[in-house]
Amino acid sequence: MGGVTADARSSRPEARKPLRERTESELARKRRARKIDRLLAEAHPDAHCELDYANPLELAVATILSAQCTDVRVNLTTPALFARYRSAADYAEANPEDVEAIIRPTGFYRNKTRSIIGLGKALVEHHGGELPRGMDELVKLPGIGRKTANVIRGNAFGVPGITVDTHMIRITNRLGLVSGKDPVKLEFAIQKLIEPREWTMFSHRIIFHGRRVCIARKPACGACSIAALCPSFGEGPTDPAEAAKLLRGDNIPDLLRLAGVEDAVDA
Ligand code: SF4
Repeated sequence: MGGVTADARSSRPEARKPLRERTESELARKRRARKIDRLLAEAHPDAHCELDYANPLELAVATILSAQCTDVRVNLTTPALFARYRSAADYAEANPEDVEAIIRPTGFYRNKTRSIIGLGKALVEHHGGELPRGMDELVKLPGIGRKTANVIRGNAFGVPGITVDTHMIRITNRLGLVSGKDPVKLEFAIQKLIEPREWTMFSHRIIFHGRRVCIARKPACGACSIAALCPSFGEGPTDPAEAAKLLRGDNIPDLLRLAGVEDAVDA
């Protein structure tokens, strides 16, 4: 096992005045945010919505099911649901017990069933059975808040949106781009930092980074390609070999290379 190279070390935050001790202008923060976005695009070139869906209605239902549940579990559950209920009218007329039986593995299944059937009814009653594109209309629908509306708009309709979920809150705070946990305030604060055309992809990249590198319990700081731009470097292990063990996903060699530590970690 080798050591961290001199080049890698000199680009580390601890080699300079720590970011957390610096004052930063709005312009500097915007530049840093956009650089982070570019580096995350390199680290997670395949970032995308990890829920399976074939149309806006399926995405809305899958997103409702994803509350307090992993995307993997939702994707195991939705094929049976989508095969049985194909339109808003199907959900509107569904027997709650039938829906509950299918979505039970996703947790909170009674509330989720109420939301999904209520969504079907509202779509039939007010929107001709189709999902509207507008934020104002979407957030009036059962089970849909701004987070879900942004997921639907960004992925099903191509309207840029910042999705503020638990990963976005944790990582943008760790990065010192924003402070606080109020999702609506964060959404507007992040909008000011990132170019609008990047909003949806920035959201996917942050979520990928949160699942694969900047993990909630123990972030892989020593194997993170945006470490030099992060004031929280050191919140997780800084030793590359130790940090590498925390990485998840199927492109770990690329993540190590982009972090400049592939030589420091045993293959
Ligand atoms: S893994 Fe560490 S260095 Fe990277 S973004 Fe998270 S807290 Fe910052």
